[in-house]
Amino acid sequence: MKINEDLNRLSQDQRLYQLEVPVIGLTGGIASGKTTVSHKLQEKGFAVINADHLVKDIYALPETLKFITTEFPDVIKDGEIQFPLLRQYVFSNIENKVKIENFIYDRLAQAFKAAFNKLDHPKMIIYDVPLLFEKNLQHLFDMTVLVYAPREIQRTRLMKRDNVLEKMADSMLKSQMDIEEKKLKADFIIDNSKSDSELAEEINRLIHKLQIH
Ligand code: ATP
Repeated sequence: MKINEDLNRLSQDQRLYQLEVPVIGLTGGIASGKTTVSHKLQEKGFAVINADHLVKDIYALPETLKFITTEFPDVIKDGEIQFPLLRQYVFSNIENKVKIENFIYDRLAQAFKAAFNKLDHPKMIIYDVPLLFEKNLQHLFDMTVLVYAPREIQRTRLMKRDNVLEKMADSMLKSQMDIEEKKLKADFIIDNSKSDSELAEEINRLIHKLQIH
């Protein structure tokens, strides 16, 4: 199986972290099904790197504990970061948010490269990035893929998955860019508004686009 050379939209130096292979950005909206799709692609042998997992790895570094201990000592209990407290610091104060984000983002390239080097010479990378469009990163990808479900379906799935009430679900949805806006920006849409079997067909459509058979 070969990759579709049309995906080589960018030169290496234009690409995210100057990757030598095409990089496909996979994104979605809250509870639209991105994680479900990402797992399915991994099962089918695609090399997937997950931005949230990289951030989690960075939070586990001793230097991060040291940074948080120095900057936000109240957030540390028994030598560990208390994430609910840290989230409060981030949400209540933009300066705190920028300080923490800058620390994490400065280490993201290195974490990405480490994850990439663990893979077995993949021909392309699928990078799962929840806030790809919110952070305006689309120009760094050879192709962007949006896992789409209309807002009402997002809300229903979110209420069920996270066991939250409608009001809470709506305020969580409001914190992200509207999925209809993302739909206009994405190169490829995976429609996940229907059943699991229809999602499987949509994933096959993507795989067909990524590969030459
Ligand atoms: P988030 O970004 O909020 O983590 P996500 O986009 O990764 O969300 P998932 O966690 O994959 O979304 O899916 C949200 C919920 O919807 C999950 O409980 C999942 O099992 C369910 N779900 C996903 N696809 C479908 C589908 N086609 N039909 C019914 N339920 C689905």
